[in-house]
Amino acid sequence: MKTIGLIGGMSWESSQVYYQLINTKIKELLGGFHSCKSILISVDFAEIEKYQHENNWNALNELMANAAKRLELAGADLVVLCTNTMHLCSESIIKNISIPFLHIAEATGEAIVKSKLKKVGLLGTKFTMEKDFYKQILTQQFEIEVLIPTVEDRQLVHNIIYNELVLGKITPSSKEIYKNIIYKLEKRGAQGVILGCTEIPLLITSTDVNIPIFDTTKIHAEKAVEIALTE
Ligand code: GLU
Repeated sequence: MKTIGLIGGMSWESSQVYYQLINTKIKELLGGFHSCKSILISVDFAEIEKYQHENNWNALNELMANAAKRLELAGADLVVLCTNTMHLCSESIIKNISIPFLHIAEATGEAIVKSKLKKVGLLGTKFTMEKDFYKQILTQQFEIEVLIPTVEDRQLVHNIIYNELVLGKITPSSKEIYKNIIYKLEKRGAQGVILGCTEIPLLITSTDVNIPIFDTTKIHAEKAVEIALTE
């Protein structure tokens, strides 16, 4: 079994889900006393969130590259960045390590192709919904059409992530807001919806909506286990 290197803390509310998912999957596949070989480096999200909203991606690139380098030095065989948004720093991470980096949008693209859907909605932070780094992988590498919510709805989705979900706050009213936004995406032709922020699955599950969901936390964690078990 390879050792999975996790960069967590963005937020820790979802990093703990990654830890649970990788161990649950290893137990399911190997049984007995097996658990997942892993190393977690966890950052202070206050620092990250501040740089994000100041648009200081140079500082964030450096922080993420350093975290990945430390995982490699500590003996990780692959790097898993436990957040969608911070994949904006992928290039900088990849340049600084010699072990594989498992991109969350690639794992998600693969899962969507497997389910044979062609057009999906994307929910996440404004960085993830509005910038190209994420959508481009889905459209160019996987030929998936990506729909994002309207500008007002994007702001709502973003605010709920930063004001509630990353702080561990789950409310019925925000669940209704998300359900309504997903319903509007469905009406525009989305055949499925990407929960493209690792905390959204804490709020929305498949029973809340009519269309298939792509839980990026689960997809990413389980892909990491698949790679960890591949010779
Ligand atoms: N975990 C979130 C994501 O998947 C948002 C927090 C962050 O900015 O990293 O995008």
